[in-house]
Amino acid sequence: MGINTVAVIGAGTMGAGIAQVCAQAGWKTNLFDAFPEGLERGMNAIDAFWDKGIARGKTTTEQKVEWAANLHAVSNMAEAVGDADMVIEAVPEIPELKHKIFAELGAMTRDDCILGTNTSSLSIADIAAASGKPGNVIGMHFFNPVPIMKLLELVQHDSCSMETIAAAESAGKAMGKTTILVKDIPGFATSRLGVVLGNEAIRMLADGVASAKDIDTAMVLGYKHPMGPLALTDLVGLDVRRDILLNLKKSFNDDSYTPHPLLEKLVAEGRLGKKSGKGIYDWSSGSAEETELPK
Ligand code: NAD
Repeated sequence: MGINTVAVIGAGTMGAGIAQVCAQAGWKTNLFDAFPEGLERGMNAIDAFWDKGIARGKTTTEQKVEWAANLHAVSNMAEAVGDADMVIEAVPEIPELKHKIFAELGAMTRDDCILGTNTSSLSIADIAAASGKPGNVIGMHFFNPVPIMKLLELVQHDSCSMETIAAAESAGKAMGKTTILVKDIPGFATSRLGVVLGNEAIRMLADGVASAKDIDTAMVLGYKHPMGPLALTDLVGLDVRRDILLNLKKSFNDDSYTPHPLLEKLVAEGRLGKKSGKGIYDWSSGSAEETELPK
C-alpha cells in the first residue's frame, strides 16, 4: 500500500520529530496534540530544526518551503486521522492513555490504515487489542532525535499482519531509516541491552574499578561505542533508565535487572542526568565533568 497521508498523535519530543521526517518524506502530515500549547511547541520545534539546517548549509530554503507545505497542525483528532494511510502515536508512556487513544483510533481510521505506536516499554499486543483492529497495529520505536537517529525498531505481536509489517518496513525506508524487526518482548532489542550495560557500568563505578570517564573511554576506544555507557545514562535520564530496569525486573521476574543502589541513590537525590544539570557527571559547564558520588 502506498502512503500519501500520515497522522502523528502527540507533538512532544518524539511526535514532532516523527512528523518532521514524515513531512520530509513527501507525505501530507497531520500533527495532532490534545493540548494547544503542545501542538504549538511541536510545530515550533520542527521549524527551528529546519532553520538550523539552513543556517548550517544542510537544508535549502526551497526544501523547507516544500516540507512545511506538507505539515499541518490539526487540533481535532478525528480530522487528523480520518483520511490517514498511517497513524503514529507518540503520547506519554501511560498504558491507560495509550489504550484509550488506540480504542479511538480503531473507530476513527479507515480499515486499511496502519496504526503504529512509539512506545518504548509497553506491550504492543495489549495496545493492539485495545484498537479492535490488532492486525493493523505495530510497534514503531523511533530514537531521539528522530530526524538524526537512523534506527527504527519495528515490533511485531502475534496478531500483527504481514501486510502491516511490510507497510511499516517500506514507510521506515521512505523516512530514511534502517528497520529491524523484533518480537513483542519487554525491552525489545534496544532498551534491554542498553540498560543492562548502563547498570553494570554504574556497578563498576561503585566498586571503584575506574573513574567514570575511564569506564566510558574503555567502551568508546576499546569497543567503538560512540559514547560511553555512563554519559549515555546521563543523557537518557537516570530516572528513565531506573524505571526501565524495574519494568524488566517485573516482566521477567528476574532480579538481575535490579537497579544498582548507586543508581537509586542518584535518582533519590534528584541527580537525573544532563536534564537536571547533574547525574553521574556534572553538566553545569555544558560538558561531562567528573564529580563526587554519594557513598
Ligand atoms: P513528550 O512528553 O515529550 O510528548 C508527549 C506529547 O503528547 C505532549 O506534547 C502532550 O501534550 C501530548 N499528549 C498528552 N496526552 C495526549 C492525548 N491524549 N492526545 C494527544 N496528545 C497528547 O513525550 P516523548 O518523549 O515524545 O515520548 C512519547 C512516547 O515516545 C512515549 O511512549 C515514550 O516512551 C516514547 N519514546 C520516547 C523517547 C525519548 O527519548 N523521549 C524515545 C523513544 C520512545
